[in-house]
Amino acid sequence: MDNRELLHKLHEEQNLTPEQWRQLLGSWTEEDRQLAAELARAVAQARFGRDIFFRGIVEFTNYCKNNCCYCGIRRGNEKAVRYRLTPEEILECCQEGYALGYRTFVLQGGEDGWWTDQRLSALVSVIRETFPDCAVTLSVGERSRESYQRLFDAGAERYLLRHETISEAHYGRLHPPELSWKNRMRCLRDLKEIGYQTGCGCMVGTPGQTPEMLAEEMQFLTAFRPQMIGLGPFLPHKDTPFRGEKPGSPETTLFLLSLCRLALPDVLLPSTTALGTARDDGRALGVLAGANVIMPNLSPRSVREKYMLYDNKAGTALDARAGLETLGRQMEAIGYRLVSARGDYRERDREEKWP
Ligand code: SAH
Repeated sequence: MDNRELLHKLHEEQNLTPEQWRQLLGSWTEEDRQLAAELARAVAQARFGRDIFFRGIVEFTNYCKNNCCYCGIRRGNEKAVRYRLTPEEILECCQEGYALGYRTFVLQGGEDGWWTDQRLSALVSVIRETFPDCAVTLSVGERSRESYQRLFDAGAERYLLRHETISEAHYGRLHPPELSWKNRMRCLRDLKEIGYQTGCGCMVGTPGQTPEMLAEEMQFLTAFRPQMIGLGPFLPHKDTPFRGEKPGSPETTLFLLSLCRLALPDVLLPSTTALGTARDDGRALGVLAGANVIMPNLSPRSVREKYMLYDNKAGTALDARAGLETLGRQMEAIGYRLVSARGDYRERDREEKWP
């Protein structure tokens, strides 16, 4: 089968064989990418219409005990100015966000020991009590199963933990030895078993990543069936060991987004900030490639430039209202609209036929 036929097969059957994934990821062309985007966009529109869910990210701490080679808030970056929002400041962000229509708050941060289970679950409970019609998503890295359970019991219903790469050897190249791929995977399994709507995902174009690895990513995603997938191009940060590395390709990221939509029609798929940083029109193109979520920044202006995961991160200059309005206009320009809703994961009846 040629790549065109493979894309139609994926559209119809939501899967390919390992050999077919390898072929597609190893030899796709710009034409294939356009076709994938067309098919994926139709699937997303059949499922979600032209509605885009928006989630507010509160970057509530940039303290981190880890030393990931790509990340600007790694512990070894002595130039990073560290901050930690207080629970009151975090609630203020949610308050502001709620008034703007946000119904999901994503608490994201480095792995910061100050935020014990007790403190974090207290925070989650207060947010849920204050905003009973909102969902809380956590994105705070690797923790024990007991910790994940406690946070779930406190009211966190979703968790984002990218696995970063499906290749164990490549994981070792992106992370220091004290971090293990096996533990990352253990975390993802625990989160899903506990009942979180679980998001995994990888960076695209990290140093040494091959097309075969991307084929393995697709196999993993179709087997694991996450409720959310976070995909963004790797972008270098000037104060990390990867400062001189080539950035990941936005086009490859767009192609993968489309493949994810075709393989997992129901998945909640953000058009990420990294994609919007790599190209000005990145977030719009992400939606046109099958994404149905955007995650604007809800952090206080004063801390935004301190949560620099990579250079020139988009959305640091505007406040919450202006940032959301800008994104809203970008969506309108391509015929989509932001909808104020929790936007939980829903699985369509497997029997129903996709267009
Ligand atoms: N500490 C949390 C949150 C990490 S930041 C955790 O471990 O899950 C969220 C995501 O940003 C990471 O999972 C990573 O995929 C992405 N990221 C970090 N540095 C990046 C870079 N230089 N380029 C692109 N994406 C990056």
